[in-house]
Amino acid sequence: MKYIGAHVSASGGVENAPLNAIEIGANAFALFTKNQRQWKAPALTSKSVEAFKANCAKGGFSAAQILPHDSYLINLGSPEAEGYEKSRQAFLDEIKRCEILGLDRLNFHPGSHLKKISEQECLERIAESINWTLKQTKGVTAVLENTAGQGSNVGYNFEQLAAIIDMVEDKSRVGVCIDTCHAFTGGYDLRSYETFESVFKHFDEVIGFEYLKGMHLNDSKKEFDTHVDRHANLGEGFIGMPLFEYIMKDKRFDNMPLILETPDESLWSEEIKLLRSFVTD
Ligand SMILES: [Zn+2]
Ligand SMILES: [Zn+2]
Repeated sequence: MKYIGAHVSASGGVENAPLNAIEIGANAFALFTKNQRQWKAPALTSKSVEAFKANCAKGGFSAAQILPHDSYLINLGSPEAEGYEKSRQAFLDEIKRCEILGLDRLNFHPGSHLKKISEQECLERIAESINWTLKQTKGVTAVLENTAGQGSNVGYNFEQLAAIIDMVEDKSRVGVCIDTCHAFTGGYDLRSYETFESVFKHFDEVIGFEYLKGMHLNDSKKEFDTHVDRHANLGEGFIGMPLFEYIMKDKRFDNMPLILETPDESLWSEEIKLLRSFVTD
């Protein structure tokens, strides 16, 4: 089964996210469980948690159809003591929020070395942060997202994601989310069926499909291998529509949230309809 949706607004409370997903005809969604631009957030109220669960039941959303995203401020690979500690605490809080909401995965950008440490050291700090968090929580998988390699972000190739996974002690609670825009500008050509096949063959060899916990479906406003992260609506960027049809027809992407983060939200319901029309099973 293909679970297709978008990163919907949770403004007014997390309980509104499933309602916004229902509105656009989605059977999957992503959300922020707190304001993504602030370090601290008030705890979720039991009223909000109950309403979230009720609205998920109403839309038929199970945990496997929901991909929460953490705050953009968090840098689990930070070279600075203060930023590192703050990030870990905030990440722990985010994982706990997922636990409370009955969610089973949390998507995050691995981290940045800020040009103060090597990439390898940054990857080690990220893995350490994941281990530290997983030990204090249960039931939620830490889902690393590949990046475009913009600035000093690590995680722009499959080898770096695999290196982090390798250092995580509990392999049952670590996974990855592949963002098609980030992969493309990060240097993975996804424009033809042949290149798509070879990229995901390489993915399977280096990381393994068993670690794939979700996808972000975005076209790219920037050209191939530019290392810039600018999403475009499907078919309106340099990747083009064929990729999204390949993914929809491919069983390896079944039963995980496939999430649009495309800039023009008014097109989401059309994009979901179109994606669904590609599915052959
Ligand atoms: Zn993304
Ligand atoms: Zn992005």
